[in-house]
Amino acid sequence: VISLRDVTKRFGETTALDEVSLEVARGEMVVLLGLSGSGKSTLLRHLNALEQSTSGDVTVLGDEVSRLRGRPLRRLRSRVGFIFQQFELVPSLTVLENVLTGGLASIRGPRLGLFGYTKANKLDALGHLDRVGLLDRAYQRADTLSGGQQQRVAIARALMQRPDILLADEPVASLDPESSEQVMRLIREIAAADGLTVVCSLHQVDLAISWADRIVGLRHGAVVLDTPVEGLTKAEVMEIYGRVATST
Ligand code: ATP
Ligand code: MG
Repeated sequence: VISLRDVTKRFGETTALDEVSLEVARGEMVVLLGLSGSGKSTLLRHLNALEQSTSGDVTVLGDEVSRLRGRPLRRLRSRVGFIFQQFELVPSLTVLENVLTGGLASIRGPRLGLFGYTKANKLDALGHLDRVGLLDRAYQRADTLSGGQQQRVAIARALMQRPDILLADEPVASLDPESSEQVMRLIREIAAADGLTVVCSLHQVDLAISWADRIVGLRHGAVVLDTPVEGLTKAEVMEIYGRVATST
C-alpha cells in the first residue's frame, strides 16, 4: 500500500532523503530507526503529501501522491492518520471534542455543537475513546491528562478518519517506559484488529523489536537496513543499529 522509488528530498544543501526505496505491504507494521536528522520525519511527511520529493515517486494507496490536488488529495489524507511526539491536542477542549476534530473533514448530515459534528460522530468518538481505555475521561479537559493518556486520545482522534494507514512520528518519545509500552501495544492491537498499515519512527531499539514486523534503518537520509524482526535477537539488532548510529 506504500511504495517509494528512489526518493530524494533536498532542503537547500541538505539531503534529507537519499534515493530511498521502500515497499510496505497492507497490514504491516514498520518501524523507522535512525539518529536525529536521519530523515525519519521527512519520510513520514512524504507519505501524507505534507512534503514533495525532489525526485523519485511516492505511491500511497495506489496514487502517486505528488500528482494529487484538491479532493483526491483530501481523500488520501483522510485515509492516512498521523500521530505526533507532542500529541498536538487542543489543551482547552475536552477529550471528546479533541477526538471529534479528527472526523471534521468527513461530516455529513445534521450537525450539533460548536464544531458541527453529528450524533453519529459523537457515538463514533465515544466508541474510539472506549477502545483506547479513556471513555471515563471524555468530558475532562485534554490538558488534565497524562502524556500517555493524551497520546491515546490522539490515537482515538486518528481513528475518527477510519484510516487505512497510521503514521506515527516518535509517538512515545515524550513518554515514560511504562506509558511507551502501553501506547505501542495499543497501536499494535488496533492495527491488527482493523488491518491498519503502520509506519512508526522510534528511537528505542527495544520497542522496535517488541512491536515491529520489520525495521528500516536510516542514516543521513539513506536506507541502510531493512529487515524483518522475526528471528532477530536483540543483540543482532543492537549491533546493526549501533552500526547505523556510529558509522560515517
Ligand atoms: P529527529 O529524530 O530529530 O526527529 P529525523 O530523523 O526526523 O530527526 P528529519 O526531521 O527528517 O530527521 O530531518 C532530516 C534532515 O532534513 C535534517 O538534516 C533536517 O535538518 C533537514 N530538514 C528537515 N526538514 C527541513 C526543512 N523544512 N527545511 C530545511 N531542512 C529540513
Ligand atoms: Mg523527526
